[in-house]
Order: sequence, then C-alpha cells, then structure tokens
Amino acid sequence: MDARGGGVWGIVVAAGSGDRFGAPKQFCDLAGMRVVDRALVPVVEVCDGVVLVLPPGVEWDGVGIPVVGGDSRSASVRAGLARVPPEADVVVVHDAARPLAPRALFDAVIAALRSGVDGAVPAIPMSDTMKRVVDGRVVETVQREGVMVVQTPQAFRAEVLRRAHSAGGDATDDAAFVEGSGGRVVVVPGDPRNIKITGPTDLVIAAALLEKQQ
Ligand code: C5P
Repeated sequence: MDARGGGVWGIVVAAGSGDRFGAPKQFCDLAGMRVVDRALVPVVEVCDGVVLVLPPGVEWDGVGIPVVGGDSRSASVRAGLARVPPEADVVVVHDAARPLAPRALFDAVIAALRSGVDGAVPAIPMSDTMKRVVDGRVVETVQREGVMVVQTPQAFRAEVLRRAHSAGGDATDDAAFVEGSGGRVVVVPGDPRNIKITGPTDLVIAAALLEKQQ
C-alpha cells in the first residue's frame, strides 16, 4: 500500500448540532477563520480527496465534497464513507471540532498503517483521576494506568473501516468499530494542543493557543 499514492481520502465530520455548545460550534469564528475551515487545512494538504459532512440545509462555500450527515457522529461518518470512491485504500476521519490538529499528526497516523495494522489513532496519557459516578455518588476510582485519551485524525484501511461500519450502530469514535470487529488499532503520540471545541471555554483556549503559535 502506498498511503500517499492516490488512495488517501479524508472525511471531516461537521454535522453536529452543538447542543453542549449552544450553537453549531464548527461554524464559529476562531481568530478570523471558521473552526471547520481550520480543521480542513491539513486534511486538504494530506489527502487526495476530502468529503465534508454537514448538517442538513447548510449551503457550503468551502473546500471538500459536501454531503449531509446523520443523527449521530457515526451515522455522519457513514454518510461520508458512502461518498469515498471504492479505489481509496486509506480513510482518515477527522472532527471539524478539532481546528488545531497539526499536519504532522495526519502524517503520523497514515504512516503508522504501513506496519500492516488496520487503524492508527493519536492518544495522550490520562493525567486526571477518573471516577465512575452513579446518581451523584462515586462507585469506583478507575485505574489510570494504561488509560489514554484519544483524538482525531484517525486513519484506517478503507476496506476495514467500511466493513466495521457496515452493521451500523453508534460509538464516540471510529476506532471503536474497527476494534469491535477484531481489527488491530495502534496509537501514535497525540498532541495536547489538539483540543476538541466542546464548550465556549474551549474556543477561548484555542484562540490563546493560536496566538502563542503565531
Ligand atoms: O459532539 P461531538 O463533539 O462528539 O462531535 C464530534 C464531531 O462529530 C464534531 O465535529 C461534530 O460536528 C461531528 N458530528 C457529526 N454528526 C453528528 C454529531 C456530531 O458530524 N450527528
């Protein structure tokens, strides 16, 4: 497989409604550029083609092939996958809500596939203490060893990702489908700056990180 030789396609999922944010966060301005446009920059650089998954009714004026998403993130990825040409051999899925993912992270997950694995995801070690809570009461302290926080972009062999998604269902990332169908997924070092815009505070943090970068 030549991961850069004509068969790498990107799917950027931007069809969320932004319930936790209070508005579709992917279309907010971040230092003079929409969050989604920032997320698209490295995808366009690295991929041979890009599918952008949007909420219904959005008139798209940017890069990528626009398609309408579904009710869940996973359904939106499947809508994107349906538009990826059959000859693609690698699919990279990225959240529009991660506008600060550096190009190097895309290169790293794509390169990791060369070892013959089915998928590669960026991950950073969990630094906080985690507790399982039921009805406001702590029922367990989750052991931190071996627990990692996973980001996008996530790269997969196209046929494995298609097969893993074929039964439908929902998960918070795509690697979960590939793991669930017996695929081998490895991690590459994630980037702590690659935050996901979830609430308004994240937009402030992202703006500060961008300013520091310039
Ligand atoms: O909601 P969450 O922050 O986990 O969403 C992650 C990404 O998935 C966002 O970029 C969001 O726009 C996208 N998404 C989607 N379709 C949905 C829900 C989320 O494309 N139905």
